[in-house]
Amino acid sequence: MSNFVHTDYDFRSLNVIPPHAVFMVRCTACGVVCEVSRRYLEEKAGAHAELKAIEARLICACGQKAAKLMAGYYGVPHPIFDEKTRKWVHPPE
Ligand SMILES: [Zn+2]
Repeated sequence: MSNFVHTDYDFRSLNVIPPHAVFMVRCTACGVVCEVSRRYLEEKAGAHAELKAIEARLICACGQKAAKLMAGYYGVPHPIFDEKTRKWVHPPE
């Protein structure tokens, strides 16, 4: 889980997220993080569901509705991705 890299693309809905993406849900209230499958999300919300709409429906085991749904992958961050600022660092032209 520690090697999960959250991509910062503004994905609006499930159907535009690449098939190999990993989905992770983080509770911004208690901090717990867990992986969820695309199939689970699609079965619950539909393949064209907007991520924000799904987030609004998720309730954590701690009782809070404070989910952050992230799409990303397992691996090492790209060399030009700054983990601290969560921004792409573009080399000077
Ligand atoms: Zn929680």
